[in-house]
Amino acid sequence: MPHAVNPWVAFAYLVAGVCFILALRGLSSPTTSQRGNRFGMIGMGIAVLTTLVTHVPTITVLVEGYDYAALLSAIDTVAVFEIVAAIALGAAIGLTTARRIAMTAMPQLVAAFHSLVGLAAVLVAAAAYLNPVAFGIALPVLTPDGAVALINPVSRIEMGLGVAIGAITFSGSVIAFLKLNGNMGGAPILLPARHVINLGVLVAIVVLVAYFTFDQSPWVFWTITALSFAIGFLLIVPIGGADMPVVVSMLNSYSGWAAAAMGFTLHNSAMIITGALVGSSGAILSYIMCRAMNRSFVSVIAGGFGAEAGGGGASAAKTDRPWKRGSAEDAAFLMSQAEQVIIVPGYGMAVAQAQHVLREMADKLKAEGVRVKYAIHPVAGRMPGHMNVLLAEANVPYDEVFELEDINSEFAQTDVAFVIGANDVTNPAAKTDKTSPIYGMPVLDVEKAKTVLFVKRSMGGVGYAGVDNDVFYRDNTMMLLADAKKMVEEIVKALD
Ligand code: NDP
Repeated sequence: MPHAVNPWVAFAYLVAGVCFILALRGLSSPTTSQRGNRFGMIGMGIAVLTTLVTHVPTITVLVEGYDYAALLSAIDTVAVFEIVAAIALGAAIGLTTARRIAMTAMPQLVAAFHSLVGLAAVLVAAAAYLNPVAFGIALPVLTPDGAVALINPVSRIEMGLGVAIGAITFSGSVIAFLKLNGNMGGAPILLPARHVINLGVLVAIVVLVAYFTFDQSPWVFWTITALSFAIGFLLIVPIGGADMPVVVSMLNSYSGWAAAAMGFTLHNSAMIITGALVGSSGAILSYIMCRAMNRSFVSVIAGGFGAEAGGGGASAAKTDRPWKRGSAEDAAFLMSQAEQVIIVPGYGMAVAQAQHVLREMADKLKAEGVRVKYAIHPVAGRMPGHMNVLLAEANVPYDEVFELEDINSEFAQTDVAFVIGANDVTNPAAKTDKTSPIYGMPVLDVEKAKTVLFVKRSMGGVGYAGVDNDVFYRDNTMMLLADAKKMVEEIVKALD
């Protein structure tokens, strides 16, 4: 790979890497996130341009100042055409998907993108395995059977790890996509003896990757690939709905490591830097999510370790229990009389796109002297930071938005908890019912408020984890059954 040592190329990749670090830093807060995004785009622009310059022979020749004859002989129009066509096709698909996708479908889109990164890693490793001389990782050696391309041992480890991580990311992300998209139920699918099977398959992969350094036979490479596809599937299938946030961030991390592994195979330092950044930030996010949900990181990545077959209080809403129904007028009256209202947004607010009218409602209440705060659960919605993004989009002041640990103690002194499209994140079963799939997850103590106004469409609908919520049937709860946006619009009218 003669071009990789060009100091200008190394410098450009370094600048791209610094941009990515600044991007991650910017994305850590809603106020700086746009700047972070811009840094990310600039970094990616520099990385793509540098890669093109160093890999399209025509441009390389111009940049490196070869003579004109060499330029003519090196022009590889096919490669240029292929690259431009691939970029145009990818850009067209990306642009259309990004424009069309609903905000609520983001998690499955992210899972689908992760699967593509995993697949790309598998394909790069396979291409390098099938044509190692072209990748500069093998020398032809003459054996009694003829010339053989002997892949150097370090590259074999990189390739083995790359194909394994890529295949796990691919099949795991496909299952995550199917679960998040509703094509597969959110309930955990627990295979008998799954821990023994998983452990066996993982050990076999590690042993085979090590063995691959001694024997580059096709059966070794393809068995690693097949077993890795299988383990990705086996690890994600047993993970239940409520733990999916951790799975999404974990697969994000895997996709980073898969990209880093590809970077080693392709001798591309920008990919190694970017992959390592995505891998480590995804791992940190998974850890934070696990802590927020009171889950053990190891038990989640080990494939629902601890989830018991037949366990879990998962059940549909029991509509035969008595409950109280309220109207928009009741809600407007109760809130306008309150000293403090805490709004608890969840996935349903995102579905209904009710954030703008919700802010309007809060403005009206504030004008009447009511103190309004927003309580955000770390896994509310369907992606990390989902609610923060929506509230920021509706220009809700940041100082009114509080994280769970900062506001939970306030519900007991609050007149009204206004729950809009949230369910699992308010379910007290997480505190009391050991058989519940959400047991142990910290939840917002909405039931402690004097009155709970609960907006959802019907009594039959359950949250993502599929469990009934006892708050619906409490004496201090009033159910506001309607689409969240419509209900809040009516409350705003009633407040007028
Ligand atoms: P839930 O999925 O628990 O509940 C959503 C509620 O919104 C339901 O009660 C539903 O009831 C209601 N709803 C849906 N559409 C509307 C609408 N148009 N108008 C009014 N109400 C509506 O959401 P939460 O935010 O409370 O919890 C998030 C769940 O998702 C957790 O279990 C979490 O683990 C999981 N998850 C989170 C991810 C993340 O990164 N944040 C990623 C993947 C999963 P009804 O149908 O009756 O209207």
